[in-house]
Amino acid sequence: MAMASFHPPIRTLMGPGPSDVHPRVLAALARPTIGHLDPAFVGLMDDIKALLRQAFRTENEVTFPISAPGSVGMEACFVNLVEPGDTVIVCRNGVFGGRMKENVERTGGIAVMVDDPWTRAVDPQRLEDALKANPQAKLVAFVMAETSTGALSDAKTLVDLAHRHNCLAIVDAVTALGGVPLEVDAWGIDAIYSGTQKCLSCPPGLAPVSFNERALDKIRARSTPVQSWFLDLNLVLGYWSGAARRSYHHTAPINALYGLHEALLMLHEEGLEAAWARHALHHQALRAGLEAMGLPLLGADGERLPQLNMVGIPDGVDDAAARQVLLADFGLEIGAGLGDLAGKAWRIGLMGQSASRRHVVLCLTALGGALAAQGRTVDVGKALAAAQAVYRG
Ligand SMILES: *Cc1c(COP(=O)(O)O)cnc(C)c1O
Repeated sequence: MAMASFHPPIRTLMGPGPSDVHPRVLAALARPTIGHLDPAFVGLMDDIKALLRQAFRTENEVTFPISAPGSVGMEACFVNLVEPGDTVIVCRNGVFGGRMKENVERTGGIAVMVDDPWTRAVDPQRLEDALKANPQAKLVAFVMAETSTGALSDAKTLVDLAHRHNCLAIVDAVTALGGVPLEVDAWGIDAIYSGTQKCLSCPPGLAPVSFNERALDKIRARSTPVQSWFLDLNLVLGYWSGAARRSYHHTAPINALYGLHEALLMLHEEGLEAAWARHALHHQALRAGLEAMGLPLLGADGERLPQLNMVGIPDGVDDAAARQVLLADFGLEIGAGLGDLAGKAWRIGLMGQSASRRHVVLCLTALGGALAAQGRTVDVGKALAAAQAVYRG
């Protein structure tokens, strides 16, 4: 068998992550590997922590990237904060809320579920009812930006409710970070995790996390050790904190951290608020174009994520065949629906570098082509004009 180097095809990534990675980030990934305790590398780690604090809008000292994908950021929060017997109220309005329940139960906690319909935001009233019915609860957990459904929940209000009932709040910001307004300190979020391949536009594989003092107090007061050796914050912080005396915990993914540093630097150069506004603008343009093609977004007004757009698939259109045309003829990846929405909706990501005018125009054009291939003629010219009208303001 002849083996050869792998050269990936050229793609445009407009699914639920990964998003397109900028050449600056790819170039950073290819720089020479150095030792993970090299003084130069320790300096880079400090810069990454400072840039992450800016992105999360926090002063939390414990703000760093876990060496693993977003799912492990989730696991790090639950495994450190939940002790066996703790009641955790988990808000579930999509796939990732369900994973939070799994995490709670595997750490020996008791999950009380607050369910909301898929494509809708978490209803604060239902959370409040659950908090009143469960005064023993210690934690509230929810997904701010549900990538499986395109719903944006009101994190500030949900965190306030948790605190009023003496609970700490764990927030999933994997898709939220960099794409929509998020204020860790101003909103009092106690523990938060994210990922690199959504609105930060890095390759996958790192999970930025941040913990405030209240969260650290709960971890310090544990009567049982954290079940996971790798994710025990008390141990991993010996590597990520304590300027002069960093000690070996695991070998950091050195080149991946070069990439994260470059992506965070690009976000810093653009400005966080400008990045939020950019995601909102391209969402408006995409939405206008899709509506002009007769493809309205699912979800409710005021609850839609700009960076993840749920589009209902018209009756009779073959989902897989359409996505195949997008990939083969246009090099364009969009996401399929999950769970009850499988075959019924597409998930179009406008995350990070993929939130641009070029992406919106390609997506509208390619969708027109994919529908035409199934005998559905849509007016692409009208769709592009509707998007351009948004850009003209
Ligand atoms: C992508 C995602 C995750 C999981 O991240 P991985 O990097 O795939 O492990 C968790 N939560 C949400 C909301 C996500 O979108």
